[in-house]
Amino acid sequence: MHPALSAVVVGLFSLSCFDNAIAQSTRRVAIGPLKHNETLPYALQTVSVRAGCFPPRLRGILAYIAARTGRRPMVTSGLRGNGRSHSQHRHCAAADIRIPGVPDRTIVAIAADAPGIGGIGRYCNGIVHVDIGPKRRWTYC
Ligand SMILES: [Zn+2]
Repeated sequence: MHPALSAVVVGLFSLSCFDNAIAQSTRRVAIGPLKHNETLPYALQTVSVRAGCFPPRLRGILAYIAARTGRRPMVTSGLRGNGRSHSQHRHCAAADIRIPGVPDRTIVAIAADAPGIGGIGRYCNGIVHVDIGPKRRWTYC
């Protein structure tokens, strides 16, 4: 091999190693601040949704739905201070969720199998209510 050509080959090789090293360290850095969110079994529809107080049982229900559908539920409403007094939302024990691409009937059927499930409400707009209160079922269409 011509010396100049072999220098180019070596140069390309070390360049691609360098790229890999950068890609890996970039990936590691990118994961850092997101790690906490990535372990959550749900996403929040907006930053104003309050879900940080969800108890483990409710998180477990959302994780179960995520595992069965292969998608993280989008929480449209969590803790609400202004709901009806008996609403599980006032106790941070309820989540209204939707999963883009998954019919609400499917979400309801899966939620019914979730360990620790209490109430399930269907609103026929794609949003499903799940809570860890008493076992109840309702449909508001
Ligand atoms: Zn609700």
